[in-house]
Amino acid sequence: MATFTGGCLCGRVRYSTDAAPVFSGVCHCRDCQRATGSAFAPVLAFPKAEVRVEGALTTYQGTGDSGKPIWRSFCPNCGSGVHDEVAVMPGVLMILAGTLDDPALMQPTMEIYCSSAQPWVSLAGERKRFAKMPG
Ligand SMILES: [Zn+2]
Ligand SMILES: [Zn+2]
Repeated sequence: MATFTGGCLCGRVRYSTDAAPVFSGVCHCRDCQRATGSAFAPVLAFPKAEVRVEGALTTYQGTGDSGKPIWRSFCPNCGSGVHDEVAVMPGVLMILAGTLDDPALMQPTMEIYCSSAQPWVSLAGERKRFAKMPG
């Protein structure tokens, strides 16, 4: 039984991993707001090589603040965003934590792009907050 399991809304895409998260955080950037249709993206990052993903995903390539690519992968059937990758962090797969079977397993330790956080969003608990990306 893997530690972290999850999948898209329709169930065609499933993933699992026993790896420990590399980091976990909440991104308030405008691109994550648009891509998720929500106020922020809760992200749980793992070593990509240690995450098993089953089912076909479609990937949208955008450009991050770094000027380098960001790949957002979603289920082509139900549209759920499942994971993101960024060129500046090779080998890291960022799972969108709302897709976890047990989302309570995520304990975010930081919030990034707080400069574009919605004013009505105030998350409980203490964590590091960055206006944009951590240095
Ligand atoms: Zn789906
Ligand atoms: Zn973002």
